[in-house]
Amino acid sequence: MNSAPALISGSVFDAAMDIAYETHRQFRHGAFAEACPTCHVPAGELCLARRSVHAARRRAHRARSEPTTVPLMPALGR
Ligand SMILES: [Zn+2]
Repeated sequence: MNSAPALISGSVFDAAMDIAYETHRQFRHGAFAEACPTCHVPAGELCLARRSVHAARRRAHRARSEPTTVPLMPALGR
């Protein structure tokens, strides 16, 4: 049996992640629109934690860009 490997080769996956992060950084998508409160990089720079974005940064982004929080409607009244 020569089934396809379940795991993507690590290096290919890493490269894809690098590209994804780099693209986000360039266009200041998502959390990259904010400076990071944790590692203090300015907006548009990658976090110093490679291939991850600090939680505080995500939170800052969410807090700013949050449209209107739509809470799940407790529709179980009846
Ligand atoms: Zn950071």
